[in-house]
Amino acid sequence: MKENPKTLAPRFLCDEMLQGLARWLRAAGYDTRLCPAGTPDRKLLEQARNEQRWLITRDHKLLELRHAKGTVILLKSNDTEACAKELMMHLSVDWQLRPFTRCLLCNKPLTVASAEQIERVPADSRKLANPLLECTQCGKLYWTGGHVERMTKKLKKLAS
Ligand SMILES: [Zn+2]
Repeated sequence: MKENPKTLAPRFLCDEMLQGLARWLRAAGYDTRLCPAGTPDRKLLEQARNEQRWLITRDHKLLELRHAKGTVILLKSNDTEACAKELMMHLSVDWQLRPFTRCLLCNKPLTVASAEQIERVPADSRKLANPLLECTQCGKLYWTGGHVERMTKKLKKLAS
């Protein structure tokens, strides 16, 4: 039997209008790609199908494409939090799946930071970090501090 990855941890492709939601999904640990601006609708759907991702959009025209059913999730809300709640009506999204295991900017799984990278972090944050993580693609560092803490609280709120 062919296994459908969507039934394991779902993977997503967000259209360019849903950057905020894409960041939240990445923060929760979901493999989430963002469509580059100006990608034709047909290409988006093709990419989503090829990569077995749910295509999340606010553009109802996408639903009219052939094969959209079972791939396209149409959201109507405007702000990120409302979109997140709306998404949960379509799929069970676990906002505590694997928090902060992916880069919020590039979706790449994070790795434990190297000693040189740790040097770049302010000293008082360095001792909080447990462990300090980095994205090997863009070089962004993640540590338990203001930003991560705020997002963690928000993820907990979304999960409740
Ligand atoms: Zn990155």
